[in-house]
Amino acid sequence: MNTPRAPLKSLDDALIELLAQAQVLAQTELVSTFDGQGRVLSADLVSALHVPPQDNSSMDGYAVRCADLDGADQALPVSQRIPAGAAGAPLLPGTVARIFTGAPVPAGADAIVMQEDCEPVPDSAGQGLGQVRVKSTPAMGQWIRRAGEDVSRGAVVLACGERLTPASLGLAASIGMSALPVVRRPRVALFSTGDELVMPGDIAPEQMPAGAIYNSNRFFLRSLLQGLGCEVTDFGIVPDRREATLDALRQASAQHDLILTSGGVSVGEEDHIKPAVQALGELDLWQIAIKPGKPFAYGKIHRTASATLAGTACHFIGLPGNPVSSFITFLVLVRPFLLKLQGATQCMPVSMAMPAHFAWPRADKRREFLRVRRNAAGGLDLFPNQSSGVLTSAVWGDGVVDNPPGQTIAPGDVVQFISFSELMA
Ligand code: AMP
Ligand code: MG
Repeated sequence: MNTPRAPLKSLDDALIELLAQAQVLAQTELVSTFDGQGRVLSADLVSALHVPPQDNSSMDGYAVRCADLDGADQALPVSQRIPAGAAGAPLLPGTVARIFTGAPVPAGADAIVMQEDCEPVPDSAGQGLGQVRVKSTPAMGQWIRRAGEDVSRGAVVLACGERLTPASLGLAASIGMSALPVVRRPRVALFSTGDELVMPGDIAPEQMPAGAIYNSNRFFLRSLLQGLGCEVTDFGIVPDRREATLDALRQASAQHDLILTSGGVSVGEEDHIKPAVQALGELDLWQIAIKPGKPFAYGKIHRTASATLAGTACHFIGLPGNPVSSFITFLVLVRPFLLKLQGATQCMPVSMAMPAHFAWPRADKRREFLRVRRNAAGGLDLFPNQSSGVLTSAVWGDGVVDNPPGQTIAPGDVVQFISFSELMA
């Protein structure tokens, strides 16, 4: 008699387990602010100054004292000229200062009048700075950017655990940081399994032997890993043999934080990954109730005493071989894991509610990630072939619908959409 099979683990439970295993890498390093994109801060960045440092003009125009302008269309002498980068002198009462965008507002001035609202009146002799006729009544404080309105001295500008974006690099630079403390890059060993795999370039399409296919997973997995700040060692294709699998795992575990494989993790006789991981360490998680992507595995390889990283276990993640399964499980499971390893506080993607402009009449027991695309009408279209082998769906689509188990979808239903740009950031 068959023993009843235990229900598959839910994605949420699997993520909790996986993230609990992802202890933040202990080593940190300083990188040039130029090279910080995508890295995770290992300390708070505290500003030692106000940004902007002084009150400054947000317009090209004239710095004035409002009290000098009683509303009449009057001409006042221009007593100084303050370009950006200059300091300027206190504003003499009854005069205005020519001022340019970004220049400090002189002491005593309390508003800027934009040059479009002023009419210069040259000196009769054509010398000096002349006068200016102010044609509008300024409001107190207008067109002045206040000191510290972006950042005030002592503020935490970027917190430990933030992942650096181009905008945050600019903000770090604005408080004078030329180098940033970040968690070191995770070292990831990548290998593809499958005797059917051929590398593009090794055999021409017209010469492909029967049964062979090109290795596509290797390309997107390597680039996804690099996009997440990893140092990748690509071990290429590992043959479907027990000894070769054991050798590759043993060798890769010595100096990597994570071994990421694709294929060979199902239950077929040619699937050697699972028993090999069990022989060299432990398998903590296997199979998840998602579609595509059920044959997902997580475990650890115990390192030999002589290994570079001896003392800690090497994480192992086995992705399914089917390209879309591999792609989706990377995005929903490996990505948060790698972000957590780097200490990122924000590891999970943000989803948004959007109307489905398609029908999905057959519910599945597993949580599904349907490849869809946003349309101009503000809804989602479905790629017609949702097979886990059809990688075109991931190129045509610009994201996925995160569809709960047992859920059908009718046109107009509100579903949860996660964009690929969110999942690949
Ligand atoms: P497996 O998980 O090894 O049973 O593979 C499942 C399916 O994915 C098979 O049809 C494989 O040929 C295919 N596959 C496995 N690895 C890759 C790869 N690296 N690139 C493209 N297809 C793959
Ligand atoms: Mg295989």
